[in-house]
Amino acid sequence: MTSRIIDLLRTGQPDQTVTIQGWVRTRREQKEFCFVEVNDGSSMAGLQAVLHQDLPNYTELVKQLNTGASVEMSGVLVASPAKGQRIELKAESVTVYGGADPETYPLQKKRHSFEFLREIAHLRGRTNTLGAVFRVRNACATAIHQFFQERGFLWVHTPIISANDCEGAGELFTVTALDLKQVPLTETKDVDYSQDFFGRRAFLTVSGQLEAEIMAMAFTNVYTFGPTFRAENSNTSRHLAEFWMIEPEMAFCDLNGNMDLAEAFLKHIFRYVLEHCPEDMEFFNQRIDNSVLATADNIINNSFERITYTEAIALLEKADRKFEFPVSWGLDLQSEHERYLAEELFKKPTIVTDYPAAIKAFYMRLNDDGKTVRAMDILAPKIGEIVGGSQREERLDVLERRIQDLGLPQDDLWWYLDLRRFGTVPHAGFGLGFERVVQFMTGMTNIRDVIPFPRTPLNAEF
Ligand code: ATP
Ligand code: MN
Repeated sequence: MTSRIIDLLRTGQPDQTVTIQGWVRTRREQKEFCFVEVNDGSSMAGLQAVLHQDLPNYTELVKQLNTGASVEMSGVLVASPAKGQRIELKAESVTVYGGADPETYPLQKKRHSFEFLREIAHLRGRTNTLGAVFRVRNACATAIHQFFQERGFLWVHTPIISANDCEGAGELFTVTALDLKQVPLTETKDVDYSQDFFGRRAFLTVSGQLEAEIMAMAFTNVYTFGPTFRAENSNTSRHLAEFWMIEPEMAFCDLNGNMDLAEAFLKHIFRYVLEHCPEDMEFFNQRIDNSVLATADNIINNSFERITYTEAIALLEKADRKFEFPVSWGLDLQSEHERYLAEELFKKPTIVTDYPAAIKAFYMRLNDDGKTVRAMDILAPKIGEIVGGSQREERLDVLERRIQDLGLPQDDLWWYLDLRRFGTVPHAGFGLGFERVVQFMTGMTNIRDVIPFPRTPLNAEF
């Protein structure tokens, strides 16, 4: 049976007979020996294999063991005399599955830029940094499911193709089966989507929230964890056209319950990843951003700051520095404002609540002041907004008025309004951008380096 290298590094014992499979990272030849480091993606460190010149076919074999070659090796583990490793493999049989020509294999021993690695995204998982990123990403996803499953939340699969554009963000990808060379037009020369596949215009979803609300009205506590799409034509280090989002939705829950859950949730993810990927996190701290471990510690051990939008504006107005964008009650917080609050003022995640109704979505619950809504954004040091959520408007009359005031298509929302007609309850939820969390956790500056195959403007290779 083949062993995973991480298991051998952790618990392998001298004299144990093992087989490993993986890819060659490095080869060092000495007089009688050749040292080959093999990595199978299970951990940052590979296992060092020692090949003795007595091995059959030794010279031919060693020639094939270039960086990138795929191999299987069997032998016995021995205590390693080398520094920094407990054990190594004394290879007794070696099979090369596929070689890798050093002249053309793009991953050289030197350090490559992340920009370059994006161009070879089919190979970049074999580098230390991207390997660590994707292991942490996996641990994060596991932590997320574990958190909700342990609390009895139902994982619900909301549609990827959706006909509602309720967020009104205007960043939608249309899904069509129309012949683009012969698009049917209406009398007013608009595209006639009634002739399209769904008989109406359809999009890739920008959020599963409205459908999650439907499910919460039957199962109490639910969450989505799936892909989300936004035709953001902004080439930033925090935006992807395709990203993953987690959206819990809780019936019988208000904004305070929502904030408590979001805080416990973020703490859980960090704790889980530190416990399950300690070497990878140590690597990020050493090589990518030396505040990674301190930040994790900060999240886990401090309670998040909680302030209202109105308080936040007052604090920003008092700030002893100039902002590029204006600060005034009614204006949305810009990234520089968010970072000032979380990074400089409070130095920890900060939850801002009760934003002006005018800058938030129609479904957020109106406060008694008639001006603000029960929204909450969690602002994280270095990243800015990481979670956006709210208590939802559960009162039919208030919701209908909001929809009318905003000129939204009430007919399309008939089912959403039905939820307020039949057994409505106070409920709340939030959305968390998965890649933003992985970014935050690893200190990776560009969001394109925390998803295996980033989709951004002009980029859909692989
Ligand atoms: P931003 O102001 O950063 O564009 P947003 O207000 O558009 O965010 P929401 O609509 O609240 O974001 O989406 C919920 C969460 O999804 C955000 O808090 C963020 O973590 C994440 N998110 C939003 N847009 C993107 C994107 N294009 N790529 C990756 N993650 C995103
Ligand atoms: Mn946005």
